[in-house]
Amino acid sequence: MSRISYVNGEYAPHQDAVVHIEDRGYQFADGVYEVMAVRDGFIIDLEPHLDRLDRSLAALSIAAPMSRGALRIVIREVVHRNLVRTGIVYMQVTRGVAKRAHAFPKDASPAIVVTSRSMASPSASAVNDGVKVITMPDIRWGRCDIKSISLLPNVLARQQATAAGAYEAWLIDSAGDVTEGSASNAWIVDAKGDLVTRHLGPALLGGVTRAAIVDACKAAKVKVVERTFSLKEALAAREAMVTSTTSFVLPVVAIDGKAIGRGADKGKAGPVYRQIRPLYEARVAAAIRAATSVASGGALQKAAAGA
Ligand code: PMP
Repeated sequence: MSRISYVNGEYAPHQDAVVHIEDRGYQFADGVYEVMAVRDGFIIDLEPHLDRLDRSLAALSIAAPMSRGALRIVIREVVHRNLVRTGIVYMQVTRGVAKRAHAFPKDASPAIVVTSRSMASPSASAVNDGVKVITMPDIRWGRCDIKSISLLPNVLARQQATAAGAYEAWLIDSAGDVTEGSASNAWIVDAKGDLVTRHLGPALLGGVTRAAIVDACKAAKVKVVERTFSLKEALAAREAMVTSTTSFVLPVVAIDGKAIGRGADKGKAGPVYRQIRPLYEARVAAAIRAATSVASGGALQKAAAGA
């Protein structure tokens, strides 16, 4: 089966889906994107991803390429046409095609691309035994809360991590604090036993997974503190973790080659991780069940019954 992608109003065979050479995404990285996870054929956290897309577009004064209702239909259609059960959907919106000039063009319409492909969940070894991260200076711009397609510093950081045999690069700001990973949010369990992740702001992307874990922890009465933490504190932490759409939540067992944790858990997944991973999995399972009941007419039956 050949892959099908959506590009500017058409579903096209993936190899034929192309954009114009003067697309501002290509020339200026003048655009934004989202990556969503697909499980059992359903898109996880579609609405929070679409909310974040709206925020990113608004921050850059790019118009929405279509209504949210239409976008939902296109995204689901792309997943469906590619028969993706476990994988991702990628969506990118740019300011559109115009003669190259830095200032915004007057007459360009936003360009949109949606692709989807199968991708395995994180390996059992990553989930159970954890992953390693290395650190490097955060050399990105001052609006990392916008999910911009301008990802060169992230690309360079992840390449350095990959070359070093690490899963992720944690980025360190000029004060010595951890901002986030090249494509994930960073967490620790501090000396008091609190689960800590950096507070939202322009220094990091507000991850949809980060928000889901904060919510799940609140519901399960697991304390989460949103504050800055330094690399020094991370190296001395009881536990460390990363979260993202593609990783969900994974334990970090070494930072810059130093094993994280204490006692028997040193260099291993810790108890807080083992508590919150099932909370996140339960949330995904509940979302799939809810979507399945709508898909199988549950919502229609409820509506018919006046519920
Ligand atoms: N930070 C950065 C820089 C990212 O690229 C990502 C992945 N999109 C995240 C954090 C995690 O965000 P999410 O949980 O929405 O995937």
